[in-house]
Amino acid sequence: MSDEASIEDRTPSDFIREKIYSDLKNGNCKQIVTRFPPEPNGYLHIGHALSICLNFGIAEEVNGICNLRFDDTNPAKEELEFINSIKEDVRWLGFNWFGHTKYASDNFHQFFEWAEYLIKKGLAYVDDLTAEEIREYRGTLTEVGRDSPYRNRSAAENLQIFHDMRDGKFPEGQRVLRAKIDMGSGNINLRDPIIYRILSAHHPRTGNTWCVYPTYDFAHGQTDSIEGITHSLCTLEFADHRPLYEWFLEALPVPNKPKQYEFAKLQISYTVLSKRNLTRLVMEQHVSGWDDPRLPTISGLRRRGVPAEAIKDFIARVSVSKNEGEVELALLEHCIRDNLNYSAERRLAVLKPLKVVIENFPEGKTEWLPALNNPNSDKQELRKIPFSREIWIEQDDFMEEPSKKFFRLAPGKEVRLRYAFLVTCNTVIKDEDGKVVELQCSYDPETRGGNAPDGRKVKGTIHWVSAKHAKDAEVRVYNSFYNTPSPGRDRDFIEDINPNSLEILENCKIEPDLITLNDNVPIQFERLGYFYKDPDTTPEKCIYNRTISLRDTWNKKP
Ligand code: ATP
Ligand code: MG
Repeated sequence: MSDEASIEDRTPSDFIREKIYSDLKNGNCKQIVTRFPPEPNGYLHIGHALSICLNFGIAEEVNGICNLRFDDTNPAKEELEFINSIKEDVRWLGFNWFGHTKYASDNFHQFFEWAEYLIKKGLAYVDDLTAEEIREYRGTLTEVGRDSPYRNRSAAENLQIFHDMRDGKFPEGQRVLRAKIDMGSGNINLRDPIIYRILSAHHPRTGNTWCVYPTYDFAHGQTDSIEGITHSLCTLEFADHRPLYEWFLEALPVPNKPKQYEFAKLQISYTVLSKRNLTRLVMEQHVSGWDDPRLPTISGLRRRGVPAEAIKDFIARVSVSKNEGEVELALLEHCIRDNLNYSAERRLAVLKPLKVVIENFPEGKTEWLPALNNPNSDKQELRKIPFSREIWIEQDDFMEEPSKKFFRLAPGKEVRLRYAFLVTCNTVIKDEDGKVVELQCSYDPETRGGNAPDGRKVKGTIHWVSAKHAKDAEVRVYNSFYNTPSPGRDRDFIEDINPNSLEILENCKIEPDLITLNDNVPIQFERLGYFYKDPDTTPEKCIYNRTISLRDTWNKKP
């Protein structure tokens, strides 16, 4: 894939690949170097997956390099837990970063020297204005800014105060270092942006070495340059920062001059993606943690049972673009079903059990019936499932007074038990409150496998498990987390949370074979949906998350 001829032949799938292919073709670049630069202040979400697939994906395609770099310039909000989860998520998506893990903080000494360099060149100054005054002096979109009274300090004085800042002589927030650019610029980012601030926080990697920290704007481009990044890909909100990104690269004696390109953030209906809001959901305990299966975090999706391949397929289908737009959640769901339809093992389980006694089946006898593990696998593997006198069926698969289109079990009616026999309901047993608690049925021993030798037609097929052999399980069914396609549009997004997003079914019965199956195998409980074992499972209790139901709504008329 990496030789020039193949680049010539390839059609780029988006505007970023177009640029990169052409830079390779015309020799602007010999090797492409990209980076994925998360700030370790939360867990990654599916929006980050787009950036991951873009940066790592491109590097893979053109034999380039992609770094994992933590943008750890704000120690107040950053934690080791986030660093570890981010690494795990990138690996789980199937990507490997080049060499050792990089950190913006690896370069703190260099940044400090470059700040001194700007001061000496008269391109940076210490400002004593308060944060509020700085905001006020900055002006607005329609009104130019005003020079700070401290703007014309001498280089020597600036250098001295900047060192005093570093040496902890001032309290947090009292002074900042600003680049001296242009308070009259039409671009607010160029109105003397802050490049260093005092923060008396413990940094996860540099500990208490520093009490001054570079801002994102000062650190990001310079880190790109140090790492030899050729294409610095970021989201659209940084487009207005690009002139500043380039200003630093021109003003400083940097080793390389990377170029920044911007793309639109991924947005999905019924989904909130910003880390700030996800943090709120976790901190205010609207969910059980960062990996709650209702969250669009990578770890939540993984726990729910969404395969990494389904996420990558989704990202490939939405592609990257310069235009903001919302993708339908139904497309992600379609990709998940598409993948699971091929990869999931089929098993039988009953979520809301109703007891059925097969009166003419001998007590104590077990019949083992062959069942197909996965109709879409080439292997066509079979397993044996036990059938006995007492079985569980789904409460919903019985109606005492069936409607016209109900082809499942009803008094006097015959139904097919999946992989087993035809059974007829003879007697309905109720408790004192009139609730149906048991059905007495008879089976036709001639119908093993599900077909009648006399050719009589039985329309309905239902699933079941043998009561004696079944294992108990809890199943967690997830419904839409928000009540509206655009949560937070008209009010605080918290108010749009669906109070019934989690339904816990505690009394489920599952096929015994599931106990021995590898935990990481996705399962289809036939007729019910796709499920995945939850790590809360204990030796006493199996717990499954419903990944997704069977019905696909993508591109289908209602
Ligand atoms: P958030 O807005 O969710 O806090 P962020 O941009 O602050 O996200 P970072 O950790 O700084 O999060 O992001 C790492 C990379 O992922 C950046 O390059 C960022 O542009 C990209 N990214 C973040 N959110 C999305 C998204 N929704 N779609 C595509 N890329 C994203
Ligand atoms: Mg950020």
